[in-house]
Amino acid sequence: MADVHRIVDFSLESKAAGDLLYGRISGLPAEQKTVDWTVGKLKASGLKDAHAESYVSTAPLWLPVSFELRVLGDATFGAGTQDVVLKSAMPIRNATVKPAAGEGALVFVGRGSAAELANIDVKGKIAVVNVVPDDSLFAAREKGVARELEKRGAVGVINAVESPGNLLYYDNRYGCDAAPCFLVGGDDGAFLESVIGRAAKAGKQVRMGLALKAEERPNLTAWNGVATIPGKSKEVVIVNAHADAWFDGADDNADGLAVELGLADYFARRKEKPARTLVFMISGGHHTAVGAAAFIKAHPDIIENTVLVMNLEHLAQINVTQAARLDPSAPGGYAAGFWTANTTETTKQAGAVNATPFVWELMGKASKRYGVVTSYEPTPSAPGDLGSYIRAGLPSAQLISSEVYYHSSGDTPSTISVPGLERAAAFYAGFIGDVAKAPRGKLKGPPPPAR
Ligand SMILES: [Zn+2]
Repeated sequence: MADVHRIVDFSLESKAAGDLLYGRISGLPAEQKTVDWTVGKLKASGLKDAHAESYVSTAPLWLPVSFELRVLGDATFGAGTQDVVLKSAMPIRNATVKPAAGEGALVFVGRGSAAELANIDVKGKIAVVNVVPDDSLFAAREKGVARELEKRGAVGVINAVESPGNLLYYDNRYGCDAAPCFLVGGDDGAFLESVIGRAAKAGKQVRMGLALKAEERPNLTAWNGVATIPGKSKEVVIVNAHADAWFDGADDNADGLAVELGLADYFARRKEKPARTLVFMISGGHHTAVGAAAFIKAHPDIIENTVLVMNLEHLAQINVTQAARLDPSAPGGYAAGFWTANTTETTKQAGAVNATPFVWELMGKASKRYGVVTSYEPTPSAPGDLGSYIRAGLPSAQLISSEVYYHSSGDTPSTISVPGLERAAAFYAGFIGDVAKAPRGKLKGPPPPAR
């Protein structure tokens, strides 16, 4: 847990430096510092070859320079009317980087389904989408709605995430092609819905001014960290965790990285060499500059001998659920709603790709033994940092989950379950032990079915 805090501190340094979209973003200093720090930890654990490897990002990094969402006061609403600037506004990457500024009437489109949009004219307006993070922005059905609204003529889109408090969110799946499109947190979203509704009752419209300036930074250098514990065989098990993060990134992915460091220390201290060579890969990530793809390209020798990749990602966030949508006791009924947290971590999805049912069996055995709660059926999909390994045909396995704090400024160490972190570490230590004993032929399965 101390390591989780230390890793999150690199994000907080980025925030303190004034980065509007802060975090451990690949190609920027916080990600490099994180990788350098993990390399130091691995060396201290006795992994003598631990080192950082640079790679050049294939896509330019999009970053906001300045922006504002301003609900405009209007004298026809009565005395004391005033502008309200939304504090949780965060613009999302779009195809154009030319500055945008505009004004329009706000229109609320619900969750933006085809059925809802059939009755709503968004042309020339700023559309507000009610995003339900079920179970997170990853799975929410409102992905892509902003682009559809832009096609229908909206001059801007605000994706309002039903979520605790007034968090910042960032996720490219909610962006637009050219129009300025934003994510806002729970209180701001509830406020917009409330004022749009109250103005409509009075036969009026609420107007908003929006502005966005962004930049693209091409050819940035990002970093992976690599370290080895030599085994009795030259066959390799890769233990991967991504270092990059939006915002604090405690569950995404400081906890995975901390467990990776814990596992390296544990296996380095054992008297007996592991049956297979363990390669610890601190990945530069997948949000903006893909670390695993660069690693695979740089190390054909390792890849050729790899029998399984296991990925440590989103391991121990507490379970948070919405108890009521809007807080009826709040003035005007527009606070973000009631949310409850329990003391255990979210249910994990067990995924294995290019792998045999035997790998799922080993995961099931380890989850029972160490009390990690997984969804009942293993799935032949494994989202997150495994993408490049899967495309390279390597058997790949992980536990993963995400919920309302995913890709938000609420993903802080206070949301990490400490016993959950221990359970995850024990799970992977047990799983690595079982995989070490399994013949290579029992691990590699057919490629996933084409979608
Ligand atoms: Zn992640």
